[in-house]
Amino acid sequence: MTPSAPITALANLIDRARAPRIVIKVGSSLLVAGGTARRDWLATLVAEIAAARERGQDVIVVSSGAIALGAATLGLEKGGRGSLADAQAAAAVGQIALAGLWAELLGAHGLNAAQLLLTLEDLEDRRRYLNATATLARLLDAGAVPVINENDSVATQEIRFGDNDRLAARVAQAAGASAVLLLSDVDGLYDRNPRDPAARLLPEVRGVSAAVRAMADGGSASGLGSGGMTSKLQAAEIADRAGIALGIVNGTHDAPIARAVASGVGTLFLPRGRAGARKAWLGGRLRTRGALVIDAGAATALARGSSLLAKGVTAVEGTFARGDAVAIRDAAGATLANGLSEYSAAECMTLMGRHSSEHAALLGYAPRSAIVHRDQLAIL
Ligand code: GLU
Repeated sequence: MTPSAPITALANLIDRARAPRIVIKVGSSLLVAGGTARRDWLATLVAEIAAARERGQDVIVVSSGAIALGAATLGLEKGGRGSLADAQAAAAVGQIALAGLWAELLGAHGLNAAQLLLTLEDLEDRRRYLNATATLARLLDAGAVPVINENDSVATQEIRFGDNDRLAARVAQAAGASAVLLLSDVDGLYDRNPRDPAARLLPEVRGVSAAVRAMADGGSASGLGSGGMTSKLQAAEIADRAGIALGIVNGTHDAPIARAVASGVGTLFLPRGRAGARKAWLGGRLRTRGALVIDAGAATALARGSSLLAKGVTAVEGTFARGDAVAIRDAAGATLANGLSEYSAAECMTLMGRHSSEHAALLGYAPRSAIVHRDQLAIL
């Protein structure tokens, strides 16, 4: 489904022509209060989802709340976030209740809920990413409403998203959605700490610049979720790279989508362009296996769209194999790009700083044209 026109306002998120497929992320603080699910509120949101389906929009839900719900059931302190083991146990218990609730409320509108529990690796490994894409496409085709959460009970610290904001953006990318709507307990992005009386809500942001990033503060205000504005901006960056609009609105009231659309209160991140699917996947990667540090000349060449040549590499970090994703950094440590390496880390060590004409002799076999080919590079 190709949108008829780009999204330029929050109201476009309920427009089937501009947003044929949308991901709606629901934060823990909206779903859970005092250890129990906010069932009546959720029923109002589900009615809005049913209305969107009636209009012909595909809807994918990314639902938090498993940890908060399970922690209350098990009587775990700190909302189940005291340790990874607590979070995993809480999620295992809470997820059943959460999925059951979605299934029941969607079912009341004649809609089938489909549960998908994903880990970071499911979306970072290209083959598994494509599998997730195919499953989502089939489910939507069959008229179901996917309800997705992170598979918190098996994800360890190193392989976790940890927040559903970035998960929602990655899911939107995998599903080819045109928009992501983050329902949160804040109105959107403010130009400074929202507690400051001079703070102003930004209705529209084009591109997540360093200045925009500086506006976000650390963690989640409610303490229930793990998001906060930082992870929302990271989600906006992933969406931006994939050409997907992302809205942040306050979801605490009943029928939150209608309210946000009518009031126009929220922040809409507008994408600057659409990278090719492969590059968006690469650029949105949260983990890389290693890094290549490059000199200023190579950085200039990269920015002009050239491949990364061994000559410009000054250091190799980590252990990676041919085909693995690596970060490309400048001498100051700033990440300039992500790319798939044509060589293993050991081969990169052998070749770094050396001119292409020397490569065959150094390797003892026919060399490739570059360390990272420009088709396998996503400039950040
Ligand atoms: N996956 C977590 C849960 O279901 C929520 C992560 C987040 O707070 O964004 O509880």
